[in-house]
Parts: sequence; structure tokens; C-alpha cells
Amino acid sequence: MKEEKFEFQYEVYNDISELDEKDAWLLTEARSVTEQAYAPYSNFHVGAVAMLENGEIVAGTNQENASYPVGICAERVLLGSVATIHPNVPVISIAISYSSDEVKSDHPISPCGMCRQSLLEYETRTKHPIRLILSGQVGKVYVINTAKFLLPFAFTSDELI
Ligand SMILES: [Zn+2]
Repeated sequence: MKEEKFEFQYEVYNDISELDEKDAWLLTEARSVTEQAYAPYSNFHVGAVAMLENGEIVAGTNQENASYPVGICAERVLLGSVATIHPNVPVISIAISYSSDEVKSDHPISPCGMCRQSLLEYETRTKHPIRLILSGQVGKVYVINTAKFLLPFAFTSDELI
């Protein structure tokens, strides 16, 4: 028997002012686009904005439904749009933020398990890591260099061959 360890490094910034210009711009867009979320049930408005390898910007927001499981997260709305509008173009970075009338938006949130799986699949199919820039409307910012770090022991297409 031997023990193994999974760990990864990520960057922590005190606030948006410590980011470089491109990342700060992308995060500002993500913070702003939370206004487009349709979240009457959770009142948790999420915005995700991607910068693509071709320079294009694509945004997504969470879209809820009275039939709760029909709702879809901002990250998967975003990835579906990217894949449709710019097929096979790698995503360089995605900034993710949130807003709510009920809870403070002062710390980073990270993608749910289902979105982690989708992000990993997009990285794999485009053979390019996706940097994640995570932050609330104010406060600390986490930068994670690949979505793969968020899903150790992932189930992938390798298992289906
Ligand atoms: Zn999700």
C-alpha cells in the first residue's frame, strides 16, 4: 500500500485591483452580467464570461425554471453558447461572479460538480486548459489555472474506449 496526495496551487488576490488589466476587465464583465440571470427562485444570480483564443467574449448566466431541475447554471449556459457560436475554439479564461439580494457577495464561489465535469470536457475536447477567475461583487479573487484541478478522479471519455 502507498498513499498518494492530490493538491494544487491557486492564486489569491485581495481584490480586483491586484489583477492584470485583462483579468480585471473579464471579472468586471462577469460581475455585471449577473443582472441578466433569471433566478427568481434562488435569488442567486450567477454570471460567467469567457475570453476565447480568437479574442471573442461570450457570456452566460444561470437560467432557472419553476420545474427546478430544468434550471441550468451560468457555466453550462456559457459553454453551450461558446461551442455553438465558436465551435472548437479554446477558452482561455472564464470569470465567474454572483449577486444576490439575500446573501453577501463578498467571497469567491466555484462551479458546482456538474459544471466542473462540463468544464473538464471542454478543456479535453479543445486540448487547452481553462483559467478560472472566481470572485463575488467585491473582495478576494481566486485564479485557478485549469478547471481540471477542481475534479480529481474525473470520469472522462477515456473510460468509454
Ligand atoms: Zn453548475
